[in-house]
Amino acid sequence: MVREDFPSWRSQVERVSGCVRPVRVAGSAAAADSGSGEVLAAFSSRDAPDGVVLVACGDRRASVCPACSERYRRDLWHLVASGMRGRDGASADDAVPGTVGAHPRLFVTLTAPSFGPVHTARGGGCRPRRSGARCVHGRPLGCDLVHEADHRVVGTPVCPECWDYTGAVLWNAHVGELWRRTRIAVGRALAPAASAALGRRVTVREVDRLLRVSYVKVAEYQRRGLVHLHAVVRLDGVDPDDASAVVAPPSWATPALLAGAVRSAASSVSFALPSPDGALRSCEWGPQLDVRDVTATGEDDPARLAAYLAKYATKTAADSAPGALAHRLRRLDLAGLVAKVGPHLARMAATAWALGGRRDLEHLGLRRWAHALGYRGHLATKSRRFSTTMAALRAVRRTWRARQRVEEGSPDPWAQAASGDAVLLGQWAYAGTGFTGLADADLAAGITADLEHARREYRELLAREAALAREL
Ligand SMILES: [Zn+2]
Ligand SMILES: [Zn+2]
Ligand SMILES: [Zn+2]
Repeated sequence: MVREDFPSWRSQVERVSGCVRPVRVAGSAAAADSGSGEVLAAFSSRDAPDGVVLVACGDRRASVCPACSERYRRDLWHLVASGMRGRDGASADDAVPGTVGAHPRLFVTLTAPSFGPVHTARGGGCRPRRSGARCVHGRPLGCDLVHEADHRVVGTPVCPECWDYTGAVLWNAHVGELWRRTRIAVGRALAPAASAALGRRVTVREVDRLLRVSYVKVAEYQRRGLVHLHAVVRLDGVDPDDASAVVAPPSWATPALLAGAVRSAASSVSFALPSPDGALRSCEWGPQLDVRDVTATGEDDPARLAAYLAKYATKTAADSAPGALAHRLRRLDLAGLVAKVGPHLARMAATAWALGGRRDLEHLGLRRWAHALGYRGHLATKSRRFSTTMAALRAVRRTWRARQRVEEGSPDPWAQAASGDAVLLGQWAYAGTGFTGLADADLAAGITADLEHARREYRELLAREAALAREL
């Protein structure tokens, strides 16, 4: 059946650019002249298809909404790349000076410690052991097999009974705090490094007045369900007259000095985890620490690193199993989870769920984060001055779209509101999520595919034109 209001419905679907589960809102809006207050236009969702307006869900996870996640990935790419090579920006808080390209910069990977042996895919056998020894559960301690890298057993415990699920979930739940303490420790470790570089005693407080560490970091789930952190860490100077300015650090503040401080901080930070089962565990980083100097990189490297980080920020705890661990669990359905994500990740989620029921761990909200295997943070975060913000990037996109509409000859009041010449007044209420029927969802998927196809053709056309221009 074809909808009678198909044309206006279609334009709604196009506006949410292929979002698979748009939020439906009902209400009205008016655009008023910012000077006189005169109402320039009014709109009510009553006149729209189904009486609602569609708003893109904005979910950053590829397994939840490919279209919104793609938009998020692109924004994050811009954010990371701008922090590495600068950005002109549309506004003061959107701009990053191009000189950041010369600031000391590291690419740092921080890993989780071991919570017991897991199957691996390193060439030449998983965990060969000659003795044939067994654990208390009667399982062999080693594994003679050679696993393909993408085999589902890779990353799962050799003996699930021996593996420390409680420790793993608690570690995930505290990795945000571990990062916070590491950041502070980096600041402190810069003082002795600065003292050595300057040949006199430099206090932590003095270092704070001279240097600022900026970063963007992304959490990536490993196969074993623990998170890794990848971060671009940049060393800036401090302008005594303008705290918000991003300026070059003094010349003695080299990449090697920053790397030393990061290494020393990452290997020394440690604090006690809560102990629901009486076992004493400390929260610290695993021994695998990768600190790479990416200051003197080529033109393409910032772009490549940015793409690398952006890719991880759109993955969920179990990306190979779409949906299964993408949303909060309402109850624990262990059999269902096992069927969807395999026994190991299911047990991680179940452990988080069980720990979440304990009074003494209430503050961790582990039931709410059971689907994230205890990890409670955002997949991507940055320090304030590293780069532009997601909000600034979104505002730029809105303004650009509005300007485009004006150039196309339709200077509508909504576009004026978006560009700041008019004010927007509105009252909206949530009316539901997703398309209302299967037929609608199918239609929308078709439109999305059409749009994607058109975009691809357009990109190819641009590439052909560029190639032609080079030949001429
Ligand atoms: Zn979406
Ligand atoms: Zn194995
Ligand atoms: Zn065992």
